[in-house]
Amino acid sequence: MQALAGIHHITALANDPCANVEFYQDVLGQRLVKRTVNFDDPNMHHLYYGDEVGSPGTILTFFPWPGLRRGQRGVGEAAAVAYAVAHDSLAYWRARLAAYDMPATDDGERFGQPVLILEDVDGMPLELVEVESPPPVQLWRGGPIPAEHMLRGFFGVTLRVRAAEPTATLLTELFGYRLVATEGDRLRFQATPGAPGAIVDLLVQPHAPVGRMGAGSVHHVAFRVPDEAAQLALRERLVAAGLSVTPVRDRQYFRSVYFYEPGGVLFEIATDGPGMLIDETLTELGSALRLPPWLETYRPEIAQALPPLGNL
Ligand code: ZN
Repeated sequence: MQALAGIHHITALANDPCANVEFYQDVLGQRLVKRTVNFDDPNMHHLYYGDEVGSPGTILTFFPWPGLRRGQRGVGEAAAVAYAVAHDSLAYWRARLAAYDMPATDDGERFGQPVLILEDVDGMPLELVEVESPPPVQLWRGGPIPAEHMLRGFFGVTLRVRAAEPTATLLTELFGYRLVATEGDRLRFQATPGAPGAIVDLLVQPHAPVGRMGAGSVHHVAFRVPDEAAQLALRERLVAAGLSVTPVRDRQYFRSVYFYEPGGVLFEIATDGPGMLIDETLTELGSALRLPPWLETYRPEIAQALPPLGNL
């Protein structure tokens, strides 16, 4: 079986949208490539950050909701989102985070690779992992970070689960991932090497409480398929394996199906296309509120109800 290429995007919950933009755009140097709304709840922003064009494998999105209380970490959710950086970049990031008064919370090695651990403004765990050959992404030249130290898309994601086996079986038998290493209570799985976001770590914690969603929680993890035919084929295999998968939903920038993996994490399978350039040029990306055709009629009401986004 052909392995999936890795992560398409990761979606998380936040509190203040302005603080979210300041952190991801101004501190981490991720381009805000799309400003839209939560299609299932258009009173809420949906902010997309990524490389210059919002390539699959680089996209972190947020549903910010002012006043949302923080989540509680636990099993059944993603424990951390990891970005790849080039060799010898962590000293730069350590200094930059300290200068913004958001110092790294931990620093060390994992599977022989240097890792810097930090939290975003809502306490969401992020990791920067130094890799020898960073994945090819479209560097955002308009951002504040020197090219050699820019984030290079996702390294991967860590899922916290009570037992390894059910999720491991899904990853290996249905997604085509391989178990490549084990270190303590952490199992590392890899999709096609070379693509951004090829790693899934399972952190196995049999006695941890169940996580509770809130600001700083990952809402779901989306994996890539090249097109709608591959999506339908994978959907059929998931259904045949007994999983309860939604019908295909039109997310404007990709097509999606969703299901809960057996460890309790919400997974999505998203198509690579049509992509972020369907309703904006490369220069325009993220510059204005974009709505899908079925919400465009309600633009005045939607725009008025959205919380302010600072100077944007
Ligand atoms: Zn999604």
